[in-house]
Amino acid sequence: MAKQDKNCSFCGRNEKEVGLLIAGLHGHICNICIEQAHDILSNEGIFKNTDELIDFKLKNPAAIKATLDDYVIGQFEAKKVLSVAVYNHYKRLNQEIADDVEIEKSNVLLVGETGTGKTLMAKTIARELQVPFTIVDATVLTQAGYVGEDVESILSRLLQAADYNVEKAEKGIVFIDEIDKIARKGDNPSITRDVSGEGVQQALLKLLEGTVVNVPPQGGRKHPDQKYIQVDTSNILFIAGGAFAGIEKNIANRLNTNAIGFRNENAIHYEEEGLLKYVNAQDLRSFGLIPELLGRLPLVTHLEPLDRTALKSILVEPKNALIKQYKKLFEMDGIELHVEEEALDFLVEKTMELDLGARGLRALCEKVFTDYMFEVDTLPHEFHLTREALSSKI
Ligand code: ADP
Repeated sequence: MAKQDKNCSFCGRNEKEVGLLIAGLHGHICNICIEQAHDILSNEGIFKNTDELIDFKLKNPAAIKATLDDYVIGQFEAKKVLSVAVYNHYKRLNQEIADDVEIEKSNVLLVGETGTGKTLMAKTIARELQVPFTIVDATVLTQAGYVGEDVESILSRLLQAADYNVEKAEKGIVFIDEIDKIARKGDNPSITRDVSGEGVQQALLKLLEGTVVNVPPQGGRKHPDQKYIQVDTSNILFIAGGAFAGIEKNIANRLNTNAIGFRNENAIHYEEEGLLKYVNAQDLRSFGLIPELLGRLPLVTHLEPLDRTALKSILVEPKNALIKQYKKLFEMDGIELHVEEEALDFLVEKTMELDLGARGLRALCEKVFTDYMFEVDTLPHEFHLTREALSSKI
């Protein structure tokens, strides 16, 4: 008798149509059905707590800062604050609750212009600690019941980043970008209960402090029929960032008011320039963040605007510096790329004009190098990029 072909007992596909057919007691299952079943289980959150435990290789703050130094140029103060915050946060996680001293969560608020490295720092820390990381934009969040995303969607993303391993997600890092955009508009809270502003700040409070949240696995709106995954946010580190454009005015006002209080003829009159380093919770409050939110972001630090020297360093120094990346790309085509000093200076000059911080560097480089990559066949084996050549491209 001829040998009979086997079929998948679930979808009926023949063994010749599939990559793999696994035999069971009374039937077979093919690789396609296994993959589909896996997806269903993931979506239902069944994989909860089944993965390996998280093993933190906790470094001390100086070592954490040294890692940041590999990727982030300058920003000494912010690196210091963030390194200590992260160190304490994960020390807190390892603490065995034996006495009454409970270490509180140290969420961080980074204040600094766009493109100065806020996101980069948070991302670098998460990669170093090998914890799940997600970036959310505060501007898309709304308070429950309005068009937009509920704050719970933050956790849906973190779960996705953790491959639906709830335990991992519960020790992850969330970067909330553009937190300044949910500042209360206007000073009178009673007539300006704006949906996108104060309401969102209120909604964030519990999340930041630590609570168990029912999270829709796929994000989006909560729905009565949907299955939820419960996520405890007590050990999630939140890092918020924002440009807080114009906050120097609030800082100057505060400092000058204090100075006048002393009736001192020689009191320094603070100009707005360079005042960011004095930023504190009081200034953020007068900018429009509610005190309850500030209370849950106890560490406030600032990032300096990037000057020419910093921008030039960013082009060549970090481990994955832009110029290093382009060199690598050209190397793959057998071309040795040399970017001359004056060419780097020119890129920096043009970036300063864009006023986008280091973000501008990438935009300019893409513009220039895309052209050269397109003509890669015509380039010499040793390719020197000069200022003159660049100026014809930008
Ligand atoms: P933001 O402060 O707006 O969050 P990002 O951290 O997203 O800015 O910076 C955008 C990009 O600019 C980063 O991906 C990185 O390439 C570069 N960059 C910004 N600041 C720095 C810095 N201090 N050191 C090195 N690269 C930086």
